[in-house]
Amino acid sequence: MPQWPSLQLPAAAAAAARRATPFALCRSSSSSVSASASNQDLVACSWQKEDEAEAQSLVVVGGGAAGVYASIRAKSLAPHLNVLVFDKGRFLSKVKISGGGRCNVTNGHHLEPLGMARNYPRGHKELRGSFFKNHGPQDTMRWFSDHGVELKAGKAVTGASVTENGKFVVKVEKRTVDFVDHVNAKYVLVATGSSQQGYSIAAQFGHSIIAPVPSLFTFKITDKRLADLSGVTFPIVKAKLKLDGIKRSAPELTQIGPMLVTHWGLSGPVVLRLSAWGARELHQYNYQAKLTVDFIPDIHIEDVKRILFLHKDHHAKHKINNSFPMEFALVKRFWKFLLEQESLDGDMHWASIPNNNLNTVALRLKQWMFEVVAKGQFKDEFVTAGGVPLSEISLSTMESKKQPNLFFAGEVLNVDGVTGGFNFQNAWTGGYIAGTSIGTLASSNMRQQQPYLQLDGS
Ligand SMILES: Cc1cc2nc3c(=O)[nH]c(=O)nc-3n(C[C@H](O)[C@H](O)[C@H](O)COP(=O)(O)OP(=O)(O)OC[C@H]3O[C@@H](n4cnc5c(N)ncnc54)[C@H](O)[C@@H]3O)c2cc1C
Repeated sequence: MPQWPSLQLPAAAAAAARRATPFALCRSSSSSVSASASNQDLVACSWQKEDEAEAQSLVVVGGGAAGVYASIRAKSLAPHLNVLVFDKGRFLSKVKISGGGRCNVTNGHHLEPLGMARNYPRGHKELRGSFFKNHGPQDTMRWFSDHGVELKAGKAVTGASVTENGKFVVKVEKRTVDFVDHVNAKYVLVATGSSQQGYSIAAQFGHSIIAPVPSLFTFKITDKRLADLSGVTFPIVKAKLKLDGIKRSAPELTQIGPMLVTHWGLSGPVVLRLSAWGARELHQYNYQAKLTVDFIPDIHIEDVKRILFLHKDHHAKHKINNSFPMEFALVKRFWKFLLEQESLDGDMHWASIPNNNLNTVALRLKQWMFEVVAKGQFKDEFVTAGGVPLSEISLSTMESKKQPNLFFAGEVLNVDGVTGGFNFQNAWTGGYIAGTSIGTLASSNMRQQQPYLQLDGS
C-alpha cells in the first residue's frame, strides 16, 4: 500500500491546516513522527493506521484548474484529509498556456449567475441556479489574491473501481518499478479536462458520455479574394451562421463583435463564439456552413445606399480610391478591396460610378456571404463540448448521482463557455463546490470518529 505523497499547500493554507488539524504533521520522507511547525507537507503520519488514512483520503484525478482548486478547498476545510492529486502531465499546464500567457482566469463583466450562465453553449440552462452563487467570479478573484499555488507530481490514472464497502480503488499507470499501481480512497474527484481516460473512468461508474467535439475554433474559408485582406481587423461586425441541413435559426448563431481576417479564413471573438454555439451542428455537418457578415451593423441597408448616393453627389470629382463615406468607418484596404470586387478602376471619379455598382457595394457591406469549408487547424482546440451530462451529477455538490463519494468538476462535464474567462470560471466554481462537499463530508466523518482516534498530544 502506498505512502500518501504530499500535496504542497501555499503557506497561508498550510498554516490554517496546522492550526486546525488534530494530527501531527510530518514530512513524507520521514518515518518518524514530527510535529515541527515549519513542515508544510501534509501527509498521513506513520503512526496513523492505513485504514484510517484511507477512510480520510481523497484522490483527485487531474491537476488542472478544477482539480487543484478543489484539492486546496477540501484540504482547507478538512486539514486531516489526505489529498493525493494525480496528473499524467504537468500541473496547471493549460492555465500557463491559456490566453497566450495572459490567461483570462475569469470574466469580471458578468458578476451575477444569470449573466454568467448565458455564456455557456453547453450548460446555459443548468448553471442559472446555485452554481455560480456558490462561487462566482468575484470569489475567484478574491481566492487568487489570497493564495499562491504550488504543486509537483506526475502519474496517470487509468481506471477506478469501488469495493463492496464503498472504498475506491484507483489504478495508477506504472512508470517506475517501485511505484504502486493501486491507491485506495474514500473520495475520488475526476477533473481530467477533455482527456479520454477521464471519460472512461466516468463510464466505469455507469455514467453516459456525450460525444466530445471541438469548440472555440476559427473558420477555414477558401475564398482566394480573402487572402488579400489577411490581417485586417473589423472592430464590429454582425455575423450569422447558417448550417447546411439545419433550418432553424437560433438567436445564438448570430453574433456581434470584432472579426479578424487570417490567411486561412476568419477568426476573432465573433467567429469563436459562433463556433461554440454551433459546435455540435458544425461537427455533424462536417464544418460546412454559410457565414453572412454585415460589416456595418449599425446602419440599415437603405441608409447605406442613401449615404453612398449622397457621397456620389457631394464628391463627384474625387477619385473613388481616395474618398469613401466616413460613416462606414472602414479601413482603406477594405474599401479598395470592395472596389476591386466590382471591377472598378480606383482612379475613376465618383461621378462615373454606375448606380448598380453602388447598390452591389451596399449589399456586400451588409450581407457578404462566405462558404465555411472546414474548421481552422489549431493543434489543441480551446475547449471541448461534451462529456459527463450535467443531469448525472448534483450541481450543488458536484457529486455523481450514480456513485456516492465520486465527484466531477471542470471540462470533463458537458459544460463549455465562450471565450473571455468563462471556461476557467466553470473549473474554479465546480472545483470549489466539489472541494467544499468533500471537505465537509470528511470533517463530519472525522467528528464521528474522533472518540476512537489518538490525537496529537501537544
Ligand atoms: C490554448 C488554450 C487557451 C485557453 N485559454 C483560456 C482562457 O484564456 N480563459 C479560459 O477561461 N479558458 C481558456 N482555455 C480553456 C481552459 O484551459 C479549460 O477550460 C480549463 O483548463 C479546464 O480545466 P480542467 O481542470 O477541467 O481541465 P484541464 O485544465 O485540462 O486539466 C485536466 C488535467 O488532468 C490531467 N489528466 C487527464 N487525464 C488524466 C489521467 N488519466 N490521470 C491523471 N491526470 C490526468 C491532464 O494532464 C490535465 O493536467 C484555454 C484552453 C487552451 C487549450
